[in-house]
Amino acid sequence: DKNDRESLYFAFDLISQFYHYLIKNEKFGNLGLTYLLNRGFTKEIIQKFNIGYAVDSWDTLTHFLQRRKIDLALMEKVGILSKRQFDHKYFDRFRNRIMFPIANHRGKVVSFAGRVLTDEKPKYINTPESEIFHKGNLLFGFHLARQEIKRTNQVILFEGYLDVIKAHQCGVTNCVASMGTSLTETQASLLTRHAETIIICYDSDDAGIEASFRAAAILGKEQHIIKIAKVPNGLDPDDYMTKFGGEKFSSDVIGASQTVMSFKMNYFRRGRDLNDEGDRMRYVEEVIKEIATLTKAVERDHYLRMLSDEFSISLDALKHQQYQIYRQRQ
Ligand code: ATP
Ligand code: MN
Ligand code: MN
Ligand code: MN
Repeated sequence: DKNDRESLYFAFDLISQFYHYLIKNEKFGNLGLTYLLNRGFTKEIIQKFNIGYAVDSWDTLTHFLQRRKIDLALMEKVGILSKRQFDHKYFDRFRNRIMFPIANHRGKVVSFAGRVLTDEKPKYINTPESEIFHKGNLLFGFHLARQEIKRTNQVILFEGYLDVIKAHQCGVTNCVASMGTSLTETQASLLTRHAETIIICYDSDDAGIEASFRAAAILGKEQHIIKIAKVPNGLDPDDYMTKFGGEKFSSDVIGASQTVMSFKMNYFRRGRDLNDEGDRMRYVEEVIKEIATLTKAVERDHYLRMLSDEFSISLDALKHQQYQIYRQRQ
């Protein structure tokens, strides 16, 4: 109920301040701070996102919450603390991790993600869903991006927390993250309600590319411009901006984003030799199938013409083949 929600907001806010205090504290927070500085994050951006550090201890947060008279059982329920089996004592669930507060769209902290400082697994652990946190309704960074999304009428969709945070540091602030899971309808409508153009900029590994196609399919149901931006050389957006800065990211990555179909047409070329007749035909077939999934006749016509021009195949033949695909599907 309302009281529970208010006490959760209160506790999460307090905890985020505590973790943030620890990362700024020379004695306790050095490991965490050094990790972030080494990855090119500044103290200013750590402040802006209220990033924190959970020290390598079983009881630092537990004692703090006790002193502040926070209900420890509630904190266990929402995944901040854990409980020991044999004596039912509470202990800190997050230890030696960088702590990212996850805020809702009004800017209230509703969840935490904690990242290890090494390449141990799992890389992130999160607090679970609760009365105030429904992962699929929320996009990371939305409350800090809202104004710039409105101004530019454009939003960049990343995978990760650190992509959003590095982008802000580099002056690119119309961005949010889906937090690695597949985009939900609720998240999609949040994006389409606020901007006309949505640029998906996921990691450039195979998993990221496949995930961007799935996100595009969910976003593409309405009258919006959906584009895909590809970061070169298998880099995450975060790594790219660390190396090349925000201006180059805007001009060379976001500026070179392509509509979903153009992007796919390029993607299907991978591993094919288009001088080879067989490869060429299989490629054309694959693209026709993809074009057949478009709902707007004008768009289908546009892409079929592109294909027709490029491969000197008559538009009639392409249309006929597409017609056969439709018949097979029925
Ligand atoms: P880093 O740069 O520190 O490796 P990342 O954001 O690039 O972090 P990815 O592995 O690309 O990490 O994952 C993208 C996003 O998916 C993360 O930011 C996080 O929101 C989510 N995620 C990844 N791994 C996990 C996990 N084990 N549990 C929960 N969420 C995860
Ligand atoms: Mn990834
Ligand atoms: Mn990364
Ligand atoms: Mn990543």
